[in-house]
Amino acid sequence: MSGLLELRNVTKVFGGGIFSKNRTTALEDLSFTLYTDQSSITSIVGESGSGKTTVARLLLGMIAPTKGHISYKGKDVAEMSRAERKEFRREVQPIFQDPFEVFNPFYKVDHVLKVPISKFKLADSEAEERSMISDALEMVGLRPDETLGRYPHQLSGGQRQRIMVARALLLKPRVILADEPVSMVDASLRATILESIHSLNRELGISILYITHDLTTAYQISDNILVLYRGSVAEVGSVDAVIKDPKHPYTQLLVGSIPQPDPELAWGEGRTSFVPVANRAVNGCKFADRCDSVMDLCWNNVPPRYQLERHRVATCHLFGDSPVMTGSDVSQVFAARTEVSRPTPSGK
Ligand code: SF4
Repeated sequence: MSGLLELRNVTKVFGGGIFSKNRTTALEDLSFTLYTDQSSITSIVGESGSGKTTVARLLLGMIAPTKGHISYKGKDVAEMSRAERKEFRREVQPIFQDPFEVFNPFYKVDHVLKVPISKFKLADSEAEERSMISDALEMVGLRPDETLGRYPHQLSGGQRQRIMVARALLLKPRVILADEPVSMVDASLRATILESIHSLNRELGISILYITHDLTTAYQISDNILVLYRGSVAEVGSVDAVIKDPKHPYTQLLVGSIPQPDPELAWGEGRTSFVPVANRAVNGCKFADRCDSVMDLCWNNVPPRYQLERHRVATCHLFGDSPVMTGSDVSQVFAARTEVSRPTPSGK
């Protein structure tokens, strides 16, 4: 398999000089690959401050890594020629959290769809442009006659976000980076948008990187999951294994905090606390001051990534009897894409 989009030992530090106290390591030594011959949906999950949005911004070339390399089709993004960068910009498309920011309120929504067509010279005539736009809108479940000719404020948040998915589609991307695409959308519309993103992968073979704090939707649409905690990998593997049987104490905390509908429990009962369990300096595992299972060695020794199963890695001293993962690319434990029996985003 050859790599399409790759991160190699990427670290990103924000703020100050080497000796500044304001330096924050947003991402530490992350390597993974999206492959050309196997499109899949990979979720990157974590709380705010976990580094997940930093991954998206790095992959889009919006910020440069402090250490390590990002490459597309084998070419380092930092060393691309103008033509290669143009191809990269067309084939790796973002879908952001807040679609309203992308729209100019003075232009009809048609504008955001026409701009990429003219910028990348995708249509030879106005008729072809109209047909491309209609096809893209229909693919995301929007009726062109009810959508075009309107101003952004005349459409719902869900419709605006689906227009952004349609816009990404017009460019025939190989990869879509969806950063919290449904977090600002009504619950009733979330399923429709996630369904659109899911079918882009299943029907058009577009690789999706789904970045979210929401484990429920990550479970519903993805094949594999990468859990980040304060810029480091906590657990990686097939989404079924990780969500149904989380091994890392942080993943257990996240999964335990998903609200469960249980009439026997009072509100809040049965949910896992996020309160720190200790208050001391941490030089080893970053999760030590919040971990119920913390051991003496955790405070001063950074755990390696242990390979627990073929499709599972956890960065935790609890698994010291397991072999240490070889190499640094965590996507080596990703499971192949399967037609899963999990509920689809629409619940069908
Ligand atoms: Fe908890 Fe130690 Fe594992 Fe970190 S290494 S998650 S502190 S048990």
